[in-house]
Amino acid sequence: MYRERLELTDRVAVVTGGSRGIGLAVVTALVEFGARVVIADVLDEAGEASAASFPDGRVSYVHLDVTDAGAVERTFADIAQRHGSIDVLVTSAGIANHQPSLELEREAWDRVLAVNATGTFWCAREAARHMQDRGGSIVAIGSMSGELANAPQRQAAYNASKGAVHLAVKSLAIEFAEQGIRVNAVAPGYVGTELTKQGVPDQWWDDWVRRTPMGRLGAPEEIGSLVAFLASDAASYMTGSVVLIDGGYAAW
Ligand code: NAD
Repeated sequence: MYRERLELTDRVAVVTGGSRGIGLAVVTALVEFGARVVIADVLDEAGEASAASFPDGRVSYVHLDVTDAGAVERTFADIAQRHGSIDVLVTSAGIANHQPSLELEREAWDRVLAVNATGTFWCAREAARHMQDRGGSIVAIGSMSGELANAPQRQAAYNASKGAVHLAVKSLAIEFAEQGIRVNAVAPGYVGTELTKQGVPDQWWDDWVRRTPMGRLGAPEEIGSLVAFLASDAASYMTGSVVLIDGGYAAW
């Protein structure tokens, strides 16, 4: 009974930001539990290649910029029509910004909020529209940065965007509970992906590891297994939760 409840056999899942990194690990986990997955991303070449690496056409790719509300609406409607349903949504599309607040330009603030917060909300809303009749599970990739202002980097826009994701998740969980739609967030600590590698001084990595009780960064697969659990019926009494997965970083 417990093992069965982890199964996602033939459920249709959409993973935004699934071309690489945490999103791609989530795709892999969902496929292993039996789901059919649509990757929705702007990184077309990587997304197409990632989709093609799974057997039997279980994973497909669609170009979607989550900041384009009209495109989000059209894409989710199209996926629901082509696949018959949307049962699971995982929002992993996200960007970072490490400029100190006094140097941050308005455009950069707007962009981070648009991708991480507004994009997540709009995708969740549109997925829920297609889950109304049969229920579903929405898992947003938030961050421990939605709960605390981590150091040494300066990232007020990123932190604010993830705080918004966490509270949007709790709000949507309440709104959609009656329709059998569960909405949760996963809040990772530092995970080794392009996001944490690009333009980041070595000294930050050393600092991140030093401040993490487990003494290492997380692997994308470690986030993938938690997301698969939350997506499944094994988490049937969980909604409105923000689950930290951070090697103990926030436990200090
Ligand atoms: P990543 O850069 O490897 O992956 C992010 C993906 O999002 C990319 O495929 C990118 O093309 C896609 N994306 C960006 N803007 C988009 C847009 N407008 N529309 C559609 N797709 C878009 O980074 P990652 O580390 O895998 O991050 C995934 C998520 O996890 C992000 O939301 C990030 O904030 C969150 N997160 C990451 C860490 C970490 O340490 N890596 C920690 C906490 C939270």
